[in-house]
Amino acid sequence: MTSTAGHDKGEIEMLTALRRDIHAHPELGFEELRTSGIVQKMLAEAGISVQTGLGKTGVVGTLKLGDGSRRIALRADMDALAMPEMAQDRAYKSTVSGKMHACGHDGHTVMLLGAARELARRKSFSGTVHFIFQPAEEGRGGAKAMIEDGFFKQFPVDAVYGLHNMPGIATDSMAVVAGPQLASSDRWTVTFKGIGTHGAKPHLGRDAMTAAGQFLTALHTIVARRVDPLQPAVVSACAMEAGSFEALNVIPDLVKIGGTSRAYSAAVRDQLEKEIGALAEGSAKLYGIEAEYRYFRQMPPVVNDRDTTRRALAAAQAALGIDKVMTEFPPSTAGDDFAMFSQEVPGAYVWLGNGPAVDGALHHNSHYDFNDDALASGVKFWTTLVEQELAAA
Ligand SMILES: [Zn+2]
Ligand SMILES: [Zn+2]
Repeated sequence: MTSTAGHDKGEIEMLTALRRDIHAHPELGFEELRTSGIVQKMLAEAGISVQTGLGKTGVVGTLKLGDGSRRIALRADMDALAMPEMAQDRAYKSTVSGKMHACGHDGHTVMLLGAARELARRKSFSGTVHFIFQPAEEGRGGAKAMIEDGFFKQFPVDAVYGLHNMPGIATDSMAVVAGPQLASSDRWTVTFKGIGTHGAKPHLGRDAMTAAGQFLTALHTIVARRVDPLQPAVVSACAMEAGSFEALNVIPDLVKIGGTSRAYSAAVRDQLEKEIGALAEGSAKLYGIEAEYRYFRQMPPVVNDRDTTRRALAAAQAALGIDKVMTEFPPSTAGDDFAMFSQEVPGAYVWLGNGPAVDGALHHNSHYDFNDDALASGVKFWTTLVEQELAAA
């Protein structure tokens, strides 16, 4: 374990025990009652004001000191995944069947709690910091729910920061990189509406099957021919429904196709939405039928703001050492709804090492575990970030 100036061993031991306790009691999105209760209690005990009721189980802790006018928010997530934990020899293994902390949100929660307590003790800054404990990051819309419940109205901020653990990076190291970190993730459907007819008399109908075939063949030209070749993008058709194998002499009225699209910038994301629709409409028109297109915006990309990233980088370097912070790291095709916060105000999302991926256990693997050796690094990063961002005069 790395030594942390001003952060005693007893505190890290307490945080480690708490991390394992939360690990043993995983809760799914919007059901984090136990976890949220622990967070509220520990913040209150530290003299931090606590606001509940945002996004059901979400908690916001606020520390305001001095007359500094800058306001920042730090975000951790609290939810677990609906999957079984398969590790055999883990003393603090999940006690709930079919639920597991397989993304390290147990560690994220504890590190932010540790930093909040440390900052409340030290009183070493001037300004306002909000500690966001977000529910339901894993695809259930926790960030959106907190924002819809008025997060930014109640807690206006100048910048927001997020942190995620990353297996494969040492626990005393971080990666802090400007620009795109995580892809957007959206869904789309196209329903081709033709006129069904006898399979032997296609000329009496309007064939939705052929239009759908045309559409599928051309779909990949969106990325290949329409999107800037220097901009990453993915469009995939993943489901298709039409006709019946019990009626192979019937040309169906409807063919429904659905899929996903991913991008690393808001502009490319907008372009994909437009192009898929235009192609669907064009394919339908070619065969004299109609297409009903729907695009469901689920998750914006996480794109790190340049200035905010620079601030996070300075904090990471001060906390862990200049040689312990990577400034280049490949973006991930996964998503994180931290993007909902960072599309409203400048944001930076950073990676904290989780040590080697033991037995290949990456995020969402049934053998994954948050590495407690990273706790001290994470607490130190958050604490340093606040002290630098809200430097006392
Ligand atoms: Zn995850
Ligand atoms: Zn995660």
